[in-house]
Amino acid sequence: MVRAIVGANWGDEGKGKITDMLGEKSDIIVRFQGGSNAGHTIINKYGKFALHLLPSGVFYDHTTSIIGNGVALNIPYLFNEIKGLTDRGVPMPKILVSDRAQIMMPYHILFDQYEEERLGKKSFGSTKSGIAPFYSDKYAKIGFQVSELFDDEVLEEKVERVCEQKNIMLKYMYNKEEINPKELLKTLHEYRDMVAPFVCDVGAFLHDAIKDGKNILLEGQLGSLKDPDFGIYPMVTSSSTLAAYGAIGAGIPPYEIKDIICVVKAYSSAVGAGEFVSEIFGDEADELRRRGGDGGEFGATTGRPRRMGWFDAVATRYGCRVQGATEVAFTVLDVLGYLKELPVCVGYEIDGVVTKDFPVTSKLRKAKPVYEVLPGWGTDIRGIKTYEELPENCRKYIEFVEKQIETPITMVSNGPSRSDIIYRK
Ligand code: GDP
Repeated sequence: MVRAIVGANWGDEGKGKITDMLGEKSDIIVRFQGGSNAGHTIINKYGKFALHLLPSGVFYDHTTSIIGNGVALNIPYLFNEIKGLTDRGVPMPKILVSDRAQIMMPYHILFDQYEEERLGKKSFGSTKSGIAPFYSDKYAKIGFQVSELFDDEVLEEKVERVCEQKNIMLKYMYNKEEINPKELLKTLHEYRDMVAPFVCDVGAFLHDAIKDGKNILLEGQLGSLKDPDFGIYPMVTSSSTLAAYGAIGAGIPPYEIKDIICVVKAYSSAVGAGEFVSEIFGDEADELRRRGGDGGEFGATTGRPRRMGWFDAVATRYGCRVQGATEVAFTVLDVLGYLKELPVCVGYEIDGVVTKDFPVTSKLRKAKPVYEVLPGWGTDIRGIKTYEELPENCRKYIEFVEKQIETPITMVSNGPSRSDIIYRK
């Protein structure tokens, strides 16, 4: 059976923890989009880890971790991430990399930086991991596929051809140092040697795995609102963050995805620029940021402070809808125990009209939050194991949210570790 774990919001919903948890019962975990630009935080017996490129299953010895064709594959980064685990006592995981995955080139990272510099104040707030230039090249058909590393003739000719184009941009648009094709080719030969032990026809591997009845998890990065089609365009990422794309980015039939677990955080947070209707500021935001997540809400990759807000039911209902969520894991609820009252954004007022539908960006820009305020529970709920033991107001908050987002909340996460989870029937 294939399940997808995806985010309903701006990312950082705690997908890493849920994947790690469900990974225990999985045979295969697949990353299907994005690259090393976001991170999952995982806490287990080996310590606390921030994974960026590797799927969250790497800590189990019974799982195969796969980098699917939809991923932006930064080969030295992957290599170092694996080393970072084994250096800390984690057994060498079983990793497969799709021969159809494309390679993050050193110049993609440079172009990302140069473009953000050029845009100055109008920049996208990119993590500068090369994601946008990478996907632009993929779809402009000048990307490099892993398989091409193993064909010397094709590779050499292509490096020459692509460098010609890139060097015009570097010289005339950014006034930066040009790429030496010979050096680039040498780098790619190094990449080839690093990745060679992991390369596999992932589509065929997964086809057999599905036939054999294996449990497969597709692990999404970021969330619905960062999707290039359905998110807050243009303040989005460059590959689809939706479960539907899991089929393409892993290489499996769409109808095999039977369960879509949307991870939803009990309050809102976002990194980078873009519309964020229920955003809060000042001391109120600082306190939530400080208490949030596990040790504060700061980006796992960049360390940037996250923007904070109250729970946005409009955005989340939409986020679950575009994911096709079959169930919701509601996370980081323990953090809210300090609040006397919990505002929940239940509508957007746009030009004097209140709507419950998440609009396109030009309208979203004008949206003001409409809140319904719920009473807090004022206690620490960490350590609670059953739903019935949760304080009444806490259950009311969950049930209110569940009604608003029109998707069953089947799991409630009340702490960062794998065992901090309450299952609901
Ligand atoms: P992801 O990218 O969606 O995996 O999100 P992050 O890795 O940024 O996860 C958010 C943070 O919240 C991490 O530091 C997690 O350890 C932490 N976390 C996850 N679930 C919970 C929870 O239920 N309670 C608390 N307090 N922290 C959690």
